[in-house]
Amino acid sequence: MTALEVRDLHVRLAGIVILRGVSLDVPEGGVVGLVGRNGAGKTTTLKAIVGLIPVASGAIRLDGRDLGRLAPHERPALGLGYLPEDRRLIGSLTVEENLLLPAWATRRRESGEHLAFLYGLMPELTALGGRRAASLSGGQQKLVALARATMNSRRLLLLDEPLEGLSPALARRLAEVVRGLPGVAVLVTESDANRMRMLTDRIYTIERGEIVRDA
Ligand code: ATP
Repeated sequence: MTALEVRDLHVRLAGIVILRGVSLDVPEGGVVGLVGRNGAGKTTTLKAIVGLIPVASGAIRLDGRDLGRLAPHERPALGLGYLPEDRRLIGSLTVEENLLLPAWATRRRESGEHLAFLYGLMPELTALGGRRAASLSGGQQKLVALARATMNSRRLLLLDEPLEGLSPALARRLAEVVRGLPGVAVLVTESDANRMRMLTDRIYTIERGEIVRDA
């Protein structure tokens, strides 16, 4: 079953056409890649799905529901999580407090359960839980930011260049975690198709705001 459907998406920013007819599908529980050079329109595609930028035309559906009819703040309730490229932790809070932030924001009661799930998925976080986020290495912070993004992503997780700047070992670990998320559809961007293959072979290629190939 298809979780995310994007159909003929057009986006204009400041009068410039950025996306011209982007269509893609992410199946339930599947990982799909969107590969393109800098400026090709990857971030714009993710932001349009989250609702951070307006769409000129086209449709975005999650589990058959038209996201275009929902305000951005209503979309996380459908189980949509987003990890932006400049994923940031709050350095003065502990790792565990950072992980709980999205649950506090949406007043979710089951945050304790989700935390236990995350520690099961990424046992390395258990040892880091009490440390201040600022004391972690850049790569460790990215793993924590990924874990945090899964908090609201029961159905769909959007990852913007999560492998960028990671050591090969950490990139492999991140890929393993992403592929192990049960039942979550994942759309992930990357500038390097070879690196993307660590995550998935299902790849759309975007050039100048258009999908030119899907593998
Ligand atoms: P990168 O890895 O550099 O982020 P990308 O594929 O994610 O690349 P986008 O950030 O989606 O690319 O940008 C696509 C195009 O849209 C670029 O040419 C960019 O300059 C342009 N663009 C992005 N945001 C705006 C904006 N707010 N106003 C006008 N143009 C924009």
